[in-house]
Amino acid sequence: MGKIVALTGDRPTGKLHLGHLVGSLKSRVELQDTYDQYIMIADTQALTDYFENPQRVVDNIIEVVSDYLAVGIDPNLSTIFVQSQVPALCELTMYYMNLVTVSRLERNPTVKAELAQKDFGKAVPVGFFCYPISQVSDITAFKGEIVPVGEDQLPMIEQTNEVVRKFNRLYNTQCLKEATAYLTKTKRLVGIDGKAKASKSLNNAIFLSDSPEVIKEKVYSMFTDPNHLKVSDPGKVEGNVVFEYLDAFHPDAEEISSLKAKYQKGGLGDTTIKSLLNNVLQDLLLPMREKRISLKKEDLFDICIEGTRKARGVAEQTLSEVKSSIGIDFFEKRDFYLKNH
Ligand code: ATP
Ligand code: MG
Repeated sequence: MGKIVALTGDRPTGKLHLGHLVGSLKSRVELQDTYDQYIMIADTQALTDYFENPQRVVDNIIEVVSDYLAVGIDPNLSTIFVQSQVPALCELTMYYMNLVTVSRLERNPTVKAELAQKDFGKAVPVGFFCYPISQVSDITAFKGEIVPVGEDQLPMIEQTNEVVRKFNRLYNTQCLKEATAYLTKTKRLVGIDGKAKASKSLNNAIFLSDSPEVIKEKVYSMFTDPNHLKVSDPGKVEGNVVFEYLDAFHPDAEEISSLKAKYQKGGLGDTTIKSLLNNVLQDLLLPMREKRISLKKEDLFDICIEGTRKARGVAEQTLSEVKSSIGIDFFEKRDFYLKNH
């Protein structure tokens, strides 16, 4: 029996941030020892909303790979590949499109939220609308069973499993596998502006590669409790970005819980908690920044080429199983057809 496959990806729409780290990257570093892990740079998916600015997508591919290595993803243990260079993924999407209805896509809560955010109005590109189906291809092409993602991806995994069940039932096969999300304690890191999610597109995140000055500036600009004016005022912890980040990144949960109590009672200033968070984040990001600086662009390129070569082979194998399950493997069955028709 081969190892179970873990699969995830990131859109190369910008550098990776703390949300990626706690929501997904740390899990990938853990999983790579035990699972056969594939990590996809989702440039095709990024083009579904950045098609007018492809250069941004292209430029961020190597940035994302740098972030992977900086956090400890090991290309000898994980296969890093570029989505647009694996054509079987597009072919799979064509076959899966038949199994998904327009109304099902319209109900997807993540797509709904993104549509509201992106302001397409009535001019929603078909490519963007269908990206959850291309995600079904990404997961199933590699027979991914474990998907280490943030909470925003749960609807995509649900969608994947619906297609898997429908495909297997309809074509009487077991060729596709259902996937399970692998969530962390911080399923969704809030933005530094207090918005529900830190995201590259919203530019409300602390990036793993931010300089010490930028990290500090972002921490000190964080949304806290607008009614907590004087140090002696009682303050709110819920919706307070600094505490959300301390929960996610401070190693001592007990210390944070006693700080929260003090803040709620009154007597703890925003500057004190911001300074604590700044120290924690500076310590966390320093080794990643150093690792990142030591990486050579040519090596990163070669890692992508090597990983993509392997990924292509695996995806093509699944594509031929899918075509043969549907029965459109005519050429392979030439002799059988000639005998029976
Ligand atoms: P974009 O704004 O371009 O969509 P993004 O910041 O949402 O970028 P993605 O590339 O879409 O990043 O997401 C990559 C992975 O990181 C996904 O598994 C996603 O669930 C996870 N992730 C992204 N943002 C967060 C967050 N704020 N908290 C937890 N996980 C996150
Ligand atoms: Mg996203």
